[in-house]
Amino acid sequence: MKIANLDLIRESLQTEEGSRLIDRIFDIRTAEGRLIYPESPEIIKRLGEMDQVKRQKIIKVTNTVTWESALFNELRSRRPLQTSDKVELEEEIRRLDGCHFCIPKAYSVTPGDAFIGDPQLERDVSRRGRIQRETCFSASNFGKYDGYHGLVIFKDHNPFSFEHLADYIGCALQWAEMAHEKDRDAIYFILMWNCLWKAGGSIIHGHIQMSLSKGLHYGKIEHLLRAARGYQGDYFRDLFRIHELLGLGFRAKGVEVMAYLTPIKEKETLLLAEDLDKIIEVLPKVLRCFHDRLGVRSFNLALLAAPHAVFQDVEEKEKQRWSGFPILVRIVDRGDLTNRTTDMGAMELYASSVISSDPYRVIEELKEALQQS
Ligand SMILES: [Zn+2]
Repeated sequence: MKIANLDLIRESLQTEEGSRLIDRIFDIRTAEGRLIYPESPEIIKRLGEMDQVKRQKIIKVTNTVTWESALFNELRSRRPLQTSDKVELEEEIRRLDGCHFCIPKAYSVTPGDAFIGDPQLERDVSRRGRIQRETCFSASNFGKYDGYHGLVIFKDHNPFSFEHLADYIGCALQWAEMAHEKDRDAIYFILMWNCLWKAGGSIIHGHIQMSLSKGLHYGKIEHLLRAARGYQGDYFRDLFRIHELLGLGFRAKGVEVMAYLTPIKEKETLLLAEDLDKIIEVLPKVLRCFHDRLGVRSFNLALLAAPHAVFQDVEEKEKQRWSGFPILVRIVDRGDLTNRTTDMGAMELYASSVISSDPYRVIEELKEALQQS
C-alpha cells in the first residue's frame, strides 16, 4: 500500500460502516497536475519516469474535526535542494563533548529554579534549584516561554540516548509536581523535545524542555480539546479506528500508534494511551525506529496530557472539561541536517502541510520495530 493510492484503499474497504467512519473525520480527494517540459537529458535524469511527472497525482486529506490538512505528492521528494557542506553528525557530536551542558560545567553555567529547595541552605552547587536523577538533572530556562519553563539535561552528551527516556520524563514530571506544589493553579503541562538545529534545538547536548501554564492550556492544545469535544462521538477512538482500517495504525503494549493522515510535516506519528507508563515504555522504541530505520536525526516531540493525568488535585470541573483526552505524543521529522532549505514554508504556516514521505512506509517500519521487541 502507498499513500498515492489512498483514494483506492478507501474505496476498497468492504464495509459500508468503515467508509462512513472515515468520512466522519477525513475528507480525501485527489488532484491531477499536468505539465509539459523540454525533454532535456538533465531533466530526464533528475525526474526519471516521464509519465509520472507529466501527470502527477496529488492526494489531499483534510481532518474536518481539527482542520489540519495535508497534500501528499511523492514526486516532491525528488526536488533538487541546495545543500551545505556535508556535516558529519557523529563527529560533530563527539567534537562538542565537554560542552556547556556537560557535567560539571552545566552546574555553573545553567540556572536552577527558584521554586526548588532553598538555595541559601543548599551547599552543593549541583543541587541548587535542581532535581538530580540517575541519568539527568533539571535546570531552569534563561529565556522563558512562560512562568514555569525548565529543562531536563541528560548526563549523556549524546542526544540520541533514548534508553534513559523514562528517567528524563520522570524528571520533567517531578519538576512539574514541585512547581505545582508551590502554585496550585499551574496545571497545564507540556513536555517538548527539539532535537538538533533543524528542529529548533540550539544545543547539541541531549535535553528536553517542559513548561507549565495557568488559566488555559496553550492555544493549539485548547483547539484540539475543543475540536474533539465538538465531535459527535469519541474523537480519539474513531481517529485510531480509521487509521487501523486504512492500515496506518496498530496497537503495541496498550499504546495506539498511528502514522497520521494529516501530518504537520514529514513522518508525523501519533501515540495515544490512557496511561503514561505505557507511553513511557513504548516511546524509546519509537524514537529508536525513527533514528535507525527511518534515518531521522532532527525531530520535534511533544507530550500532551489532561491536567488530571499529571496532577492528583485537579478540580472536578476541569476534569470534566478534559474528559476523554488521552495522553498524546506527537513526533515529526524535521529533515536532513545537511540541507539548508527549511522544511516549512508559507503553505505549512498559513494553508496546508505539504508532505513527501509516505505514512505507509512509516507505519511499516514502526510495526516491525515494535513487534520485534
Ligand atoms: Zn555536552
